[in-house]
Amino acid sequence: MGLLSQGSPLSWEETKRHADHVRRHGILQFLHIYHAVKDRQKDVLKWGDEVEYMLVSFDHENKKVQLVLSGEEVLETLQEKGERTNPNHPTLWRPEYGSYMIEGTPGQPYGGTMSEFNTVEDNMRQRRKEATSLLKENQALCTITSFPRLGCPGFTLPEFKPNPVEGGASKSLFFPDEAINKHPRFSTLTRNIRHRRGEKVVINVPIFKDKNTPSPFIETFPEDEEAAKASKPDHIYMDAMGFGMGNCCLQVTFQACSISEARYLYDQLATICPIVMALSAASPFYRGYVSDIDCRWGVISASVDDRTREERGLEPLKNNNYRISKSRYDSIDSYLSECGEKYNDIELTIDKEIYKQLLQEGIDHLLAQHVAHLFIRDPLTLFEEKIHLDDANESDHFENIQSTNWQTMRFKPPPPNSDIGWRVEFRPMEVQLTDFENSAYVVFVVLLTRVILSYKLDFLIPLSKVDENMKVAQKRDAVLQGMFYFRKDICKGGSAVVDGCGQARHSSELAAEEYTLMSIDTIINGKEGVFPGLIPVLNSYLESMEVDVDTRCSILNYLKLIKKRASGELMTVARWMREFISNHPDYKQDSVITDEMNYSLILKCNQIAHELCECPELLGPVFRKVKYSGSKTDPSN
Ligand code: GLU
Ligand code: MG
Repeated sequence: MGLLSQGSPLSWEETKRHADHVRRHGILQFLHIYHAVKDRQKDVLKWGDEVEYMLVSFDHENKKVQLVLSGEEVLETLQEKGERTNPNHPTLWRPEYGSYMIEGTPGQPYGGTMSEFNTVEDNMRQRRKEATSLLKENQALCTITSFPRLGCPGFTLPEFKPNPVEGGASKSLFFPDEAINKHPRFSTLTRNIRHRRGEKVVINVPIFKDKNTPSPFIETFPEDEEAAKASKPDHIYMDAMGFGMGNCCLQVTFQACSISEARYLYDQLATICPIVMALSAASPFYRGYVSDIDCRWGVISASVDDRTREERGLEPLKNNNYRISKSRYDSIDSYLSECGEKYNDIELTIDKEIYKQLLQEGIDHLLAQHVAHLFIRDPLTLFEEKIHLDDANESDHFENIQSTNWQTMRFKPPPPNSDIGWRVEFRPMEVQLTDFENSAYVVFVVLLTRVILSYKLDFLIPLSKVDENMKVAQKRDAVLQGMFYFRKDICKGGSAVVDGCGQARHSSELAAEEYTLMSIDTIINGKEGVFPGLIPVLNSYLESMEVDVDTRCSILNYLKLIKKRASGELMTVARWMREFISNHPDYKQDSVITDEMNYSLILKCNQIAHELCECPELLGPVFRKVKYSGSKTDPSN
């Protein structure tokens, strides 16, 4: 989750005093990078995925599952045995927000050949196996997006009681600070977000109203004034960064051949974010309750919302500079490519001085406003030893602001003095239960980038419509019920997309005629006379490519999963989890998930992940090439 500096973290008050310094030098660092590599061409297409994992422990006797707070130790061993022993080790491991989390990526990025699609799943399996081999008896590594009883009493191993007093990080009634990763970055972020905001973060997720759910559903917090004020009726109330950043996701980063290709991909993929997020929906439960949403996005957004009351528009501006319409974790606010310019219809708050400075340095309007928008934010953490840097050769201040703007897409300049090219990161996906599904989503997105580039596709619609799609995408069953704005004619761009955009032709058209509301089924699978469908487009691309039989077979299986999830023939993880809970013998149709129900669910998830049981309603009749058993948990228990 971003930049990891070592040293003594400063308090919010101290960090704030250095905010202008960090921004000023962050911009200088960006300028150094930009001038050094703006003309770089012909970097090859490389890409890599990131999977976030949770460590769980099953208590079979008491039918309870807990999150194990051993992420730091497991990570240390993984790194020691892996990258530190062998620089070509096939996996890489990084810390994540929760002390019960770790993040794994392939050791080296994948390259541009088709056969690499056939190695993704093996690599994910290897990651699962490597980390699982370090776990204790009855522990497992899970790829679940949100732990259903996160924040319920005793949800961690060892157990800790939250200590909701000033002086700690979260001040949460539910999420103990011990569940936060011990690297000081994470608790400092947590505390400084809260201090900057001036109060605890507030997350209210609508509860799913089942037959016996009290109506109105009201929780009272007599001992906590902040909670009493902030919690809403008919909502599940949460009060800590951990409820958001303690969730897991699946991300993909691409290296483009040049800055302009990166900007083009950034824009095109931004329109795809809500669609793929809805398709990957996997997080219906929060704090022990069944919610009415299927995706984590809004929860994380609220969990790191550091805006003050002034910035949120609740009070007149006095001490702050701007009204800010979104949290730091949210969808993107401006397109970056020339073709995107006319669809930039969201009001963009920017740091005007920085914008002017960037223009003076020869940066174009679109990139300048993008950076000047990221830089309206304050740095959230700063380490005493890292205040004065060499702007020509370091980029920590730039990364400080950049890596705490958690948007659906991230545009990533190369690190200083490296041979890495311009990259974009695709961030909206929820992590799936199995390596097969995670590979399928990753391969789908990577193939889509190939098709976008080869066919010069154009998915752009006004950004405000993408934002509307983001809202729809998170709702329960959005994949089947939601209607999404999507561009009707995606082949319009012709050959001019990357560099010229055919502005003259476009400007004569009314944007409103270019898009219409479609279901995800139509967008993914196509509909006669309405839209060709992304999968048919991918298939025709694949037909024109040389692909070995084995790879083609894997890709077809991946695309089949996506196709069937879109049509409703297969369930999303969120839908499957809902059905599992509602069919559980203990479920009282009151939206409550007990320890025992949670245990059965996570145990089942673990069995599915290790191919110890079938789950045709989720995965279909999957053709599998490799069998392995990496679980430390005997599911027959
Ligand atoms: N876990 C976060 C999510 O679910 C992402 C953190 C990161 O950027 O690595 O979106
Ligand atoms: Mg991460």
